[in-house]
Amino acid sequence: MKYLIIGAGPSGLTFANRLLDNGIDDFLVLEKEDEAGGLCRSAMVDGYPLDIGGGHFIDVRRPKVNEFLFRFLGEDEMNRYDRITKIRVSGVRIDYPFEANIWQLPIEDEIRHLKSIAAAGVNTGREMPESFRDWIIWKLGRSVAEDYLIPYNEKIFSVDLNTLGTYWMNKLPDVSFEDTLRSCLTKQPYGTLPGHASFYYPKKYGSGELWLRMSERIKDHIEYGVCIKDIDLKGRSVSDGRYKADIIINTAPWTSFENIKGASGGFMDCVSKLEHSSIVVKYLPDTEDEEVNWEYIPAPDIDMHRILYRNTFAEGSKGSWAEINTKRYKAKDGDTAFISDYAYPLNTVDKPEAIKAVLDEAASNNVYGLGRWGEWEHYNSDLVVELAMGLADRLMS
Ligand SMILES: Cc1cc2nc3c(=O)[nH]c(=O)nc-3n(C[C@H](O)[C@H](O)[C@H](O)COP(=O)(O)OP(=O)(O)OC[C@H]3O[C@@H](n4cnc5c(N)ncnc54)[C@H](O)[C@@H]3O)c2cc1C
Repeated sequence: MKYLIIGAGPSGLTFANRLLDNGIDDFLVLEKEDEAGGLCRSAMVDGYPLDIGGGHFIDVRRPKVNEFLFRFLGEDEMNRYDRITKIRVSGVRIDYPFEANIWQLPIEDEIRHLKSIAAAGVNTGREMPESFRDWIIWKLGRSVAEDYLIPYNEKIFSVDLNTLGTYWMNKLPDVSFEDTLRSCLTKQPYGTLPGHASFYYPKKYGSGELWLRMSERIKDHIEYGVCIKDIDLKGRSVSDGRYKADIIINTAPWTSFENIKGASGGFMDCVSKLEHSSIVVKYLPDTEDEEVNWEYIPAPDIDMHRILYRNTFAEGSKGSWAEINTKRYKAKDGDTAFISDYAYPLNTVDKPEAIKAVLDEAASNNVYGLGRWGEWEHYNSDLVVELAMGLADRLMS
């Protein structure tokens, strides 16, 4: 065929639909699961939707993406919410983001953080460290780093934080001592509101509904239950030559292939440098209804790093679900839990160079990496939709 697409997550589904929009139907999507949607799939648990790859909310900020998505699931089939999220720290709950809301903490913690921000490397002109853990202390001050961002990142990724680079946090704004002091004295947040301030959530069947609708349109072009284990870059084929195409779009993790043929030694070396972390999503039936959509939990002695109260976004529902790194999860009898092996691409120090080499060599063979795993980036679904539309348009032209 002309196009072979590996993976029917948001990236693969968007790419395929974009082809069809342009009258191209010579394509096939291969998906290892028996349902489309990838990390954005949902399931009915206790009568209501639960997002099995973690809480998935659709950002509203990309008009072209919205226009594309609303064709499959109308805006009137989703609820739009203004995000209410908290951080559980120092025995209280404060608004997100932490730096802007230190004024909500007990007074002794406010004083401790203010002293530490005043002494932060970024505010005193100390040289910027290169490793992640040291960089966080330099950027936010020791006490904010140690109470919040360090334990939170240790929980979500469960790796030595100094193996991560700092390049992906560069957009984190500097925390100014004067602004934090003013915020504490006037008891008001400072700075700009974080992204994702509003989001959509489907009225029926959770985040998975959108992607199921998208898969419906191309159902004659998807084969489910096909897990690709080998890919031949030069021959542009997979599964021992069983499927062959002019162009291959790979949205699956490069590291999930047992065998990559036609690749240079350097390519294989770079693939071996790509790391990821895994999560468990566990249903908690007994939580009280809440007003907060979700809470971030940095405390090391609690297994989950985030809890989501579904009554706030899945109409009529009750209960909550927890996101837990699989290394921290201790299964108990009777748990309702879903594991995503590939949840977060790790932003290790040498990742940018490694993934660039992989993408360049693959593309020189007309094999393109796309999406969260194809490009090994912390992309959200609205962004992968935009990227998939862009790649399809580029290749078709
Ligand atoms: C905890 C968590 C919370 C998130 N929250 C949000 C959010 O609120 N909003 C948001 O927009 N985004 C969110 N994201 C990001 C979102 O999950 C991704 O942007 C999106 O899933 C990327 O789509 P994708 O198609 O690139 O990858 P995936 O969704 O991972 O899809 C890849 C597909 O490839 C298939 N596949 C894998 N290997 C093979 C193989 N060897 N052969 C065949 N098929 C294969 C998989 O089964 C899957 O269907 C979150 C992610 C996580 C982990």
